[in-house]
Amino acid sequence: MTTIQGKAGTDFDGAWDPEKTADVLIVGGGPAGLTAALYASRARLSTLVLEGGVVGGQAAITDRVDNYPGFPQGVGGAELARMMEEQARRFGAVIISDMAQSVEEKDGLFVVKGYDPVYKARSIIAASGAEYKRLGIPGESELVGRGISFCATCDAPFFRNQKVAVIGGGDSAVKEALFLTKFASEVFVVHRRDALRAEKVIQEEAMANPKIKFIWDTVPLSVKGDNGVSAVELKGVKDGSVCDLDVSGVFVFIGTRPRSDYLKGLVTMDEWGNVITNDAMETSRRGIFAAGDVRQKTLRQVATAVGDGATAAFSAEKYLETLKQ
Ligand code: NDP
Repeated sequence: MTTIQGKAGTDFDGAWDPEKTADVLIVGGGPAGLTAALYASRARLSTLVLEGGVVGGQAAITDRVDNYPGFPQGVGGAELARMMEEQARRFGAVIISDMAQSVEEKDGLFVVKGYDPVYKARSIIAASGAEYKRLGIPGESELVGRGISFCATCDAPFFRNQKVAVIGGGDSAVKEALFLTKFASEVFVVHRRDALRAEKVIQEEAMANPKIKFIWDTVPLSVKGDNGVSAVELKGVKDGSVCDLDVSGVFVFIGTRPRSDYLKGLVTMDEWGNVITNDAMETSRRGIFAAGDVRQKTLRQVATAVGDGATAAFSAEKYLETLKQ
């Protein structure tokens, strides 16, 4: 999910002059960041986007997006991301393969350290999104990439005609379980309660799918296997019973944590690291705005991320005007 596609500091199809100061530097090229880039570049602000992984963010690695208006038959996540990117580039936004490591304020400018280069900007929009949480159980770190995955869209084809487990009961877990049924012979959704958190329409689809079996009130204790996953050890939370479920893949979708480490000490966050903003997407620090999954909000969706991105760019434009006065 976070593979660097190009050399750090290089545009995916050009170069950014490090001596240049961006009017708006956007950290993250998901739906929030790309929408902010579209609005900022249309306002004729010099706009630089740093994306450390895949342009389009989590949406780009989602098989299908069915709840983004304007696509009555749904749209492939990668296709939606590609169109958002093309639209932002059309108005002059530059998108660079790099990840913000830290931000400091110096001589009235923000200095953003990437993997190697340093970027200067008059304002920042943090749209760095969130990453999937890990279980923190024995076997997990050893078997990531060797049977444990956080992206069904990326890895499902490796599990053709095999049994897999999905951990979690939210939108991600249930949607990815549905996607896995295209390849796996059986998909076990292991959930710690007896009711799903996922959207009702997704729940109904999963319940009707004969390849999906739900294992309720159960948590994973460990993942077993040497060179690959052979089983996940499960514990019933109500009766304490322990058993092994033989599977060759474990897909973990137990929620996300915001990617906000590079802003620590600079802006106010909640106890989980979500950046706190007002309705104008302003953070506690003048000149820094936040949009999308990285901020404290109630609904994390593509539809809400694009609204945040547009608002953040509008607020950045207003802020930049105050600098000229
Ligand atoms: P959520 O936080 O919505 O769900 C996490 C799930 O994992 C919950 O069912 C939770 O259980 C369970 N869980 C949490 N911690 C553990 C643990 N330690 N062990 C076992 N189970 C655990 O995360 P998602 O990634 O599903 O979604 C994140 C956001 O993205 C949400 O806002 C979601 O709506 C959105 N999203 C929307 C999609 C869409 O197509 N509409 C697709 C994907 C994501 P419990 O329910 O008991 O808390």
